[in-house]
Amino acid sequence: MKKAECTVCGALARVVRGNYKFAECGLRRVVLQGVETVHCAKCGNEEVAIPRLNELMRALALAVVKQPFRLQGEDVKFLRKYLNMTQAEFAGLLDIHKTNLSKWENNEDRIGDQSDRLIRTVVLALGDGLKGKMEEVVRSFPNIHKSKRRGSIDMDPQSLSYTYA
Ligand SMILES: [Zn+2]
Repeated sequence: MKKAECTVCGALARVVRGNYKFAECGLRRVVLQGVETVHCAKCGNEEVAIPRLNELMRALALAVVKQPFRLQGEDVKFLRKYLNMTQAEFAGLLDIHKTNLSKWENNEDRIGDQSDRLIRTVVLALGDGLKGKMEEVVRSFPNIHKSKRRGSIDMDPQSLSYTYA
């Protein structure tokens, strides 16, 4: 059995490979496939080892802008944070009031279809490492479903390949 040192108490802890709900990224429905989790029997600490976090966040941002489903509030918030922008900065780019952006992010207001596409385009243009994907994603815009809402994004953090479940 694989063991690793617990970063909280220093005890030797059990390492388990499995799927992990990556809620820390701000999206509720991201499942990382086959990551190693440390379970410490001594202090109860559970920690996940995520390799290449920057690359993983980029792959998640791409998965969100490329999804054939309407953007949800948490998607917009996640993408804005990927751009390292405040609500005021992002709202300024989209030419909307900060209050409207806040309502989108909190699912209090439905995001219009054109705003949805504008958000994706801005993120592709400005998001770290996404510009090269712009043509491919923009050309797939007609595939965005009008009403369907996605389930989870199942992401393999090793290969950075993903599926919409
Ligand atoms: Zn511990």
